[in-house]
Amino acid sequence: MRLIFLGPPGAGKGTQAKRLTDKYGIPQLSTGDMLRAAVSDGSEIGKRAKEVMDAGGLVSDDIVNQIVSERIEQADCAKGFILDGYPRTVPQAKALGENLRDKGIDLDAVIELKVDEEALVRRIENRVAETVAAGGTVRSDDNPESFRKRLSEYREKTAPLSEYYQGQGDLVVLDGMAHVDVVTAAIERVLEKERDSASSVAHN
Ligand code: AMP
Repeated sequence: MRLIFLGPPGAGKGTQAKRLTDKYGIPQLSTGDMLRAAVSDGSEIGKRAKEVMDAGGLVSDDIVNQIVSERIEQADCAKGFILDGYPRTVPQAKALGENLRDKGIDLDAVIELKVDEEALVRRIENRVAETVAAGGTVRSDDNPESFRKRLSEYREKTAPLSEYYQGQGDLVVLDGMAHVDVVTAAIERVLEKERDSASSVAHN
């Protein structure tokens, strides 16, 4: 199963992707996590990405395209993967499309989690409070200023991907404001339908 999760920061993509990872045994490929790992390793990519990430901007398409292309070649992606936070721009979506075509891989679904922006700000505040309460480290871009920038980057550069994937017939839009379990159940129904139609094509 090859899935893309679309939605603004705080929409619940990561939470839902983690649940599917546990259930289906396929990895969650979060470009945000990969970039944060590169920053903490002090790698060349991390050094180039850190300032942009802290300010809530987007890292260059070339860097993320390269990271994802290499990652999906790894053995644990053979059965599938969930892309969380990638693609984030139309050029990234085009690069991913070419990359998957070259590798002979088909996308199964693009799931967009629709949410209300006011609620997002509250969710991020809660995420920060929960992290602090658990004694964890708060992400350096989880502050109001960077968060606003991340939202505006989303509106300007990532939101057009809905139309892009709708045009390809791959997009399913779900209500990301529903309870987390309700969202998981809705995603599972989409995946069941996808599997049923794939197996009926295989049998015809
Ligand atoms: P996330 O964990 O998905 O919220 O990503 C955190 C930050 O990493 C973003 O605000 C960007 O600076 C950077 N980032 C993650 N994924 C991408 C991407 N696909 N394209 C560009 N920048 C990205």
